[in-house]
Amino acid sequence: MGDEARLVELVEAFGIPLRPGDGGLVANCPRCGDPLAVDDESWACGCGSGGSVELVAVFGGLSMRHAAELVRSGWRPDGPPGLVAKSTVRPLPLLCDPEADDEAVIDAVLAH
Ligand SMILES: [Zn+2]
Repeated sequence: MGDEARLVELVEAFGIPLRPGDGGLVANCPRCGDPLAVDDESWACGCGSGGSVELVAVFGGLSMRHAAELVRSGWRPDGPPGLVAKSTVRPLPLLCDPEADDEAVIDAVLAH
């Protein structure tokens, strides 16, 4: 284990109370209302599934790339859900992301 927050810590840091359940910890997901199952390595509910990066991306409303940077840096949410500071990591926006798909490029051009 490095400096990365444990998955269970991250889930609880998003304000989701976990309780012991079948084969791990469970909660009711506040986003989708489905049962949320968490173990040391992964989580799953109606919102999706995965590890720490997916968790931060889904529950923090962030891109996978942004979430991966945050998890790698040992970030954890300090407040209630929705208070993730989106402005701290993001540089000034380009007119369009070089990796954006066609639809996003068209939207950016139309909005310009
Ligand atoms: Zn969910």
